[in-house]
Amino acid sequence: MRSQPRKQTSVALRRRRRQLLRHLPPLDRLLRGSLIERYKPCGKPGCKCARGPGHGPKYYLSVSYPGLRPRMDYVPQEAHAQTAEFVANYHRAREILEAISEINRELLRRREAL
Ligand SMILES: [Zn+2]
Repeated sequence: MRSQPRKQTSVALRRRRRQLLRHLPPLDRLLRGSLIERYKPCGKPGCKCARGPGHGPKYYLSVSYPGLRPRMDYVPQEAHAQTAEFVANYHRAREILEAISEINRELLRRREAL
């Protein structure tokens, strides 16, 4: 998705900016963090999990905060797909905002109307 604003005409930049805006995911469908998979042995004697990675996968959402340890929230299996979608939306939204910002920075450099 990386484009090079410096090599494009201002008209092309503004067109690209409109396109980017259209690809922005719905802003109420975002989640910052990453989905983590965990396998845990249950500890029952004789369970086959003792020889494997354990039962799972169980999913957790890990969210980091500046200066703090990451917070982990359990994600039930039935919420996994939607959680994954929201996490992907967050990354996409960030990429799009960054790309729009780079276009605006380039227009500013050119002393063009923003
Ligand atoms: Zn087990």
